[in-house]
Amino acid sequence: MRQKSKERLDALLKKADNLFGVNLKIDLTYDLKGSCTIGQCRKTPNGYTIRLHEELLYKYGFIYLNDVLNHEFAHAIQMEIYKYKTKPHGKEWKNILSKLENTQYNPKLRPKYEIIKKSKSTYNYKCNCNQIHKLSKTRHNRIQKGTKYICKKCKGFLTEIFASKNTLFISYLSFSFLHHTTA
Ligand SMILES: [Zn+2]
Ligand SMILES: [Zn+2]
Repeated sequence: MRQKSKERLDALLKKADNLFGVNLKIDLTYDLKGSCTIGQCRKTPNGYTIRLHEELLYKYGFIYLNDVLNHEFAHAIQMEIYKYKTKPHGKEWKNILSKLENTQYNPKLRPKYEIIKKSKSTYNYKCNCNQIHKLSKTRHNRIQKGTKYICKKCKGFLTEIFASKNTLFISYLSFSFLHHTTA
């Protein structure tokens, strides 16, 4: 996928020259991790650097490239043309991206990404009184090997709660929250 991202970048560079008359020098890095940033474009002394998220690149392939690489590339053109005089996702940037993609930019159509959270430090366990016990990794590992822990209150054994808390759904511009509806 790294090779594919370079090919995409070359195609975008040609488009930028044709459509906007700008000649950009852009490097790609693959050093983004975690769930805070899924793509980034920075000005460097001799051009721009677009940082990509390797896990997402491999997991989502062209879905990620079409979305994030185009998005960041549009920022590079924006910075080149307007310097820092326009808003990051303002109308100038939207126009650039729409021209690049040859379709009207619609943020609602952006894909959602799921990132696996690694290295948990606490584990959730429950007992008979439905209290949530947060256990350390050490205790969790002991339980995995057969040690039993009981709740001081109800004397029930602690069992792990398997929730989908390991995964985090993020969308690039808007984070989605779970809504509670009351009848
Ligand atoms: Zn952006
Ligand atoms: Zn209990």
